[in-house]
Amino acid sequence: MTAVVRLITTAAAAFLLLLVTLIAAVTGTVAALTGSSGGSGSTPSEAALADIPADYLALYQHAAPLCPGLDWAVIAAIGKIETDHGRLDAPGVHDGENFAGAGGPMQFLAPTFDSVTAEHPLPPGGATPPSRYHPHDAIHAAAFYLCDSGARHGDLRSAIFAYNHADWYVSKVLAQAEDYRAAASTPATSPDGWSVPVQGRCTSGFGPREGEFHEGQDLAAPIGTPILAAHDGTVINAGPASGYGLWVRIQQPDGTVTTYGHNHRNNVVEGQAVRSGQPIGVVGNRGQSTGAHLHFQIEVDGRPVDPAEFYTQRGFRMCR
Ligand SMILES: [Zn+2]
Repeated sequence: MTAVVRLITTAAAAFLLLLVTLIAAVTGTVAALTGSSGGSGSTPSEAALADIPADYLALYQHAAPLCPGLDWAVIAAIGKIETDHGRLDAPGVHDGENFAGAGGPMQFLAPTFDSVTAEHPLPPGGATPPSRYHPHDAIHAAAFYLCDSGARHGDLRSAIFAYNHADWYVSKVLAQAEDYRAAASTPATSPDGWSVPVQGRCTSGFGPREGEFHEGQDLAAPIGTPILAAHDGTVINAGPASGYGLWVRIQQPDGTVTTYGHNHRNNVVEGQAVRSGQPIGVVGNRGQSTGAHLHFQIEVDGRPVDPAEFYTQRGFRMCR
C-alpha cells in the first residue's frame, strides 16, 4: 500500500518535473523568437498600429526575417487584402474554402501550403501538423512562399504576382505596404535614384481627361513650395512653355525625361547638371492651370508613363 503510494508520488513528481522542463523549453523558444524579431524591417506606421491586431503584427514581423530583403509590411499588406488579418467573415477564412479553394487568414490553396511546408519546416508556435488556418503557420508559410517566388532576389512584384496573378493586386499590395510603414522609414531616394518632386496632394492623375489625355500627375501644393529634381540628369529646357506657363525638363543618362510645369519660378538653366532631390524651382499657377500645383510628367523611351504607378513600383508613393 505504502509502496504503491510512493510509486504514484514518484511518478507525479517525475511528471511535474517534465512539465516544468517543457514550460521552460517553450518559454525559452518564445524568448529566442521574440529576440530575433527586432531590428529588421521598417517601423510600423500609426495606421499599421491602429489596423493590425497586435498578435498578427508580431507574426508578420517575426516571419519576414525568414526571407532576406522581405519587409514585414508586404506580408501584412497581403494579410490585409486577403482577409483583413483574419477578421473577414467569409467562407474559407476560419474553416472550409472559398470558391477558389483558398483557406485561412493568408488564403492558401491546400496544395500550395503543403508544398511550402514540406520544403520549409515552420518555426515552432503553430499547429501540429502545420495548418493553413493557424495564423502563425499561414503567415510564416506566406513569407517562405514570397521568398521562393522572387522576394529573395529583390523581385517583389513577381513574388506578389505569384500570390495572385493580377497587376492590380500587385499595385494594391505595394500601396497598402507603404501605408503600413512609418514615414521616417520611407527611403528619400529609391535604389535606382528616384525621389519625390514635391510634397503635395495627388489631384488630377494620368489618363483621359475632358476629351484629352493628361500625360502626367498633378500634385497640389501652395505657391512657393520647393520643386525637387526627381532624378540625376541634365536640364534640357528651362523657361516659358505653352500651356505649362513656366517649365523645367530634365533628361537622365538613360534618356528618361521628367517635366515640371506651371512653375512660379525656376532655379536652374538649360544645360545645368542636377542631382536627385536638388531644388529646381517653386510651385506656381502659371499657364493652363486652375490652382497652385505641379504638373509632373515622366517619359520613358519618349512615351509618357503614369508617374504614380512608376513610384509605386519603386516601393513608395509620390503623393497622397
Ligand atoms: Zn497636369
